[in-house]
Amino acid sequence: MNVSTCIGCGCDDLHACVDDGVPCSWLIKDPHLGLGVCSMCPGEVRRWHKGERKLAVKALVRQALPIIEADREMLIRSCSVPGTGRIPDPDDRAELRRLDRWLRLAREAVK
Ligand SMILES: [Zn+2]
Ligand SMILES: [Zn+2]
Repeated sequence: MNVSTCIGCGCDDLHACVDDGVPCSWLIKDPHLGLGVCSMCPGEVRRWHKGERKLAVKALVRQALPIIEADREMLIRSCSVPGTGRIPDPDDRAELRRLDRWLRLAREAVK
């Protein structure tokens, strides 16, 4: 299946927005491009009809968030002393701080 992503919020067929237990649906979708506008982003329909297909900043950040999370976990797993969680290398610690900062900013941006 070709997964489509909402240009407004970055949700996709596998990660729908959920409001009061109800998942979003597609208002518009172009399966060939793998893009659309979901029911939580009715304000994006106008942009879509103007021919714009660029992801909004929020949508981009939502897509990037799991990648940053995975990077962070990988760093901790590969660089920490087993059992202690301590990271001996100062460069690795600096990298972890950098990822933590990006995670914080990204989570703030998709709120
Ligand atoms: Zn959306
Ligand atoms: Zn959605």
